[in-house]
Formats: sequence, C-alpha cells, structure tokens
Amino acid sequence: MDLTEYLVPKNIFDHVSSAANELGVETYVIGGFVRDILLKRPSKDIDFVCVGSGIELAKSSAKKLQTKKVATYKNFGTAMVKYEDHELEFVGARKESYRKESRKPSVENGTLEDDQNRRDFTINALAIHLNEENFGQLVDPFDGVKDLKKKMIRTPLEPSITFSDDPLRMMRAIRFAAQLKFDIEPDTFDAIINQADRIKIVSKERIIVELNKIILSEKPSYGFNLLFQSGLLQHIFPEMVALHGVETRNGKSHKDNFFHTLQVLDNISENTDDLYLRWAAILHDIAKPPTKRFHPKAGWTFHGHEDRGARMTPGIFKKLKLPLNDRMKYVQKLVKLHLRPIALVKKEITDSAIRRLLFEAGDDIEDLMTLCKADITTKNPNKVKRYLQNFILVEQKLKDIEEKDQLRNFQPPVSGEEIMETFSLDPSRVVGEIKNEIKEAILEGIIPNEKQAALKLMYKIAKDKGVKSA
Ligand code: ATP
Ligand code: MG
Repeated sequence: MDLTEYLVPKNIFDHVSSAANELGVETYVIGGFVRDILLKRPSKDIDFVCVGSGIELAKSSAKKLQTKKVATYKNFGTAMVKYEDHELEFVGARKESYRKESRKPSVENGTLEDDQNRRDFTINALAIHLNEENFGQLVDPFDGVKDLKKKMIRTPLEPSITFSDDPLRMMRAIRFAAQLKFDIEPDTFDAIINQADRIKIVSKERIIVELNKIILSEKPSYGFNLLFQSGLLQHIFPEMVALHGVETRNGKSHKDNFFHTLQVLDNISENTDDLYLRWAAILHDIAKPPTKRFHPKAGWTFHGHEDRGARMTPGIFKKLKLPLNDRMKYVQKLVKLHLRPIALVKKEITDSAIRRLLFEAGDDIEDLMTLCKADITTKNPNKVKRYLQNFILVEQKLKDIEEKDQLRNFQPPVSGEEIMETFSLDPSRVVGEIKNEIKEAILEGIIPNEKQAALKLMYKIAKDKGVKSA
C-alpha cells in the first residue's frame, strides 16, 4: 500500500527522508501517527524509528527543518524535535527482553521487525518507509490494517507474552478500545483476564494516565465495563467495585450502584469534557457501600454517604496519584453537596435554603447542577420529566436569589478585623460568634447582604452579648 499522500505536512517527511538517505539509515514513521492517519484522525505527534542512531537522525532532520529545538535523551537513545506545533520523536529500532517482576526491559539495538514485535497492538505496529526507494510504502507484518477495518484491538505476538512483558499494555488495550470504540479480540481479552493481577507491578502514575483517558472517552462506561470484566478494576480501584451488586432483604432490593454510577458518568459526559467533573460523577456515591444499612420498615438507606464520600475523596485521590490540589477540593465539594439540590425540591423551596446552597457551592453551582441532572437515572420517563422540571425551578430560584443577594462569592460585609477594632477586642471566640451570627442572618434572609444592615446588627449582637463599644 502506498501512503505517500497521507504523509503531511509534506516538508517534515521530505526532510526526514532526505536526512535518512544522507546518513544511509533505514527509516520509518511508526505507531500512533500511522494508525491515526488511516483512521482520519490526524495527530501532531510523529514517531520515527530508524535502524541506527535516532539521535543522529534527529539532529540532521532538525537542521534541514531549520529548527534548533532538539532535546536528546542519551540514556534512552531518543531525541525530540519541535517543529511548529508538531513533536517529532526519533528512536533507534530496538529489541527488548523483559524480566518477570519489572516493566523495565533490557534493551539492545534491533531491526525494524524487532521493533514492531515489541509494540503493544497490531494497529500500533504499522510503519511507513521513508527511504527514497520505498518512500510511502506500508510495512504491516501483523495485519494491522485489517484490524483497523475490523475495529479490533489485538496484540502482535501471543497476547500472554505481550502483556507479561509489560502489564501496562492491559490498561492500554482497554484505553484504545474506549477511545476508538473498538472491540478487544477474544484471545487478547482472555490474556488480560488471566494476567490482571500483574497490573500491580505497574506504577500508579502510569495507570492513572490510562484511566483518565478512559474517563475522557465519549462513553466512559464502555471502558469501565471492560476494566470490570477483565478484573483490572478490582486491582486498581476496589472502592468502585464495591458499588457493584444488589442485595435483597425482606423482598426489598437496592439498585446496583456500580451500574448507576456508570450511567451517571455517561450522562455527565454528554455535557462536559472536564476530567474532574467526570471524576465527581464517579465518586458521588462512593461511600454507599460503607454507609449501607437495612431497616425493616424503611428498607435500604445510605445515610450520610455524601459526607462520608467527601471524606474519602482525598484518600482515593492520593492512592490513585490524582493531584491533591484545588481540583481535589472541587471534587470533594461536589460529592458533599450532590444531594442538596434534590433535597431542595422535595420540600418547598425556601429562599434561605437556596442562599445556603449558593454560599456553599460558590462558583461551582452550575457544575453541581450538571452533576445532579446526570444523577437522574430512573427508567421511568414520568419521573425523569418531573425531576428535570423541579431542577429548572431550582435553577430559576438560584438565579433570582443570586441577582438579589450576590451570595456566590460571599464575603461577610463586616470583617473580623472590623469587629475587633469597633469593640477593642483581641482575636477571640466572641469575635467569631458575632461574625457567624451576621452570616447566619444574611443566609436566613433576616437582613440583606449589605454593609449598613450588617453593622446595625453587629452592634445589636454585641450589646446582647454584653460587649461594649470602644
Ligand atoms: P496516543 O498518543 O493517542 O495516546 P499512541 O499510539 O501514539 O496514542 P503513545 O503512548 O504515544 O500512543 O505511544 C506511541 C507508540 O509507541 C504506540 O503507538 C506503540 O506503538 C508504542 N508504545 C507505547 N507504549 C507502549 C507499550 N507500553 N508497549 C508497547 N508499545 C508501546
Ligand atoms: Mg502518541
């Protein structure tokens, strides 16, 4: 197959080709870039492999491309060239052999064939010749093109060998299946089932990269179901697996919270590409297993699962090597508040309840509403309609109150310093109490969110507490 027409931007491939010819090294473009041009998803990362020194080829190509942006990694024998918005990676063809307890192979120089053998999947092992004689010719020893057409993830070698050499590839198999909407070939999938426990030798940092890509795919439940069926999820994220299953007592059952969570995740993914809002969907019910109780009258309850879930969030982020920063706090907040909008519509909606929600959710109020809408997974269309109508009501109320009171980024109109100054107080409990009572009065709608009203109340509270003005 001649793929010359796909090799764009043309100048990159022409220059690398001419560098390769001058150095007299066999050179190919290989891997994801080739796969993606055949799938018509052009990408900016291009991997080159040559039978020789990748670093020499990189330097010489960079010269021809008139860019000075070359980074070399001597230890790995690789080099990276930046050219416009492309990242070109150069590497010498390798042969690898692995030891059982580590992902780190011993590496020696090899042929193109050796290099293709160590690739993870047939669709990722495609190479295109760049030397003059064969420019544009596809090298496809494992029928990768056929697998692309069949939408199939399959390992180039016997799958148990490919996965045993590097267990991360099990995660990658599912990640590619999820991103490309491909199936995993049955023997390949069986090998994942058999070796799922070996994922333990892979670093958490590598695993989370793949997991996040699955989460960011169009319909994340697809990848999660594969993770679950293969047994990988049990190893990498047991808290989520604990959501699986239905228990029945006295004829009363609860829903399967694993599949419910996946449905919420799919729902939210239709409305956001934000990784952490999707994580909030994954974690919103994470504490249902540890809070589950059975009451003969009420049936199954999960009281406090939102608070407990929020408390579990930092530990889960830490274990999975997700960032322990404001993104974690954001997820934690959404988990904690995820029942509040629903609770609001169950009773009559009071202004003060709305004010409190606005105060606690702050700028994340829209994301919270997005999560709550995604949380509607009942199959009963009448219920769905009713819930959504209720949410529209809540949203309208939120808007009205927000316009009136501007509570979203609530800063109390009287600060602690002002209170201390007015009454010559040192930092003390009574200062906090006065401040808090003013806040409560605003949230309850007793006074408006305004300076004058707050000052007036401050004097009154102080007087009631026996605090004298300075
Ligand atoms: P994307 O960049 O969209 O994630 P990709 O296929 O380019 O997809 P990379 O992780 O960038 O994936 O890797 C580039 C190529 O290197 C792959 O196409 C594959 O041939 C090879 N590769 C990467 N990781 C592995 C691995 N763990 N085992 C075997 N081959 C791998
Ligand atoms: Mg890539």
